[in-house]
Amino acid sequence: MATKFNLKDLPYSYDALAPHISEETLKVHHDKHHQTYCDKFNGALEAAQIESEDFREIFANVADKPAIRNMGGGFWNHQFYWESMAPKCSGPSELPEMHKAIVDSFGSFDKFKDEFSQKAAAVFGSGWTWLAVDSNGKLVIYNTANQDNFMMDVCVNKEEPILVIDVWEHAYYIDYQNKRPAHIDEFFSIINWDKVSERFLKIINQ
Ligand code: MN
Repeated sequence: MATKFNLKDLPYSYDALAPHISEETLKVHHDKHHQTYCDKFNGALEAAQIESEDFREIFANVADKPAIRNMGGGFWNHQFYWESMAPKCSGPSELPEMHKAIVDSFGSFDKFKDEFSQKAAAVFGSGWTWLAVDSNGKLVIYNTANQDNFMMDVCVNKEEPILVIDVWEHAYYIDYQNKRPAHIDEFFSIINWDKVSERFLKIINQ
């Protein structure tokens, strides 16, 4: 019997992120796109007779497993994305260690925001932009294509993420049509800095 993963509910209501992300977008994105990744990932695990429930193990060898790479990445990345957002958030300046890491790594919060926004706008086609922690505890920003993530052998970036934005068109097309930069700008109003900071502290205190 292969492993079976279930889709979790969103950690907030469908209308909770409006007007930054609409109820309609969240319903389609979670209930259709994410659910499809979940179902197809389970099918791919079954077909490959993979029993592991450990994502690092599952993603360690995906170079010759496109279904696991694409569907599994889609399943894991979206869960991480939902938890990266919240309707009511602290500002990073209220989280001293997180704020210090941003300033130490980028010079200022505004410089971080600029770099993150530019990288996200520059993803060609479909992909994700990640804020991550390198082995020295420094914050870095990188993009991954399609549904790739840091745990995969096919991904050059191995830094552990603490924040992600989905820049596939399905994430913003209903609300912003082709205006991806507007979507990125609005994303900054709904970043769950409490969660991002919690992930950061967990990594640096390991
Ligand atoms: Mn998506």
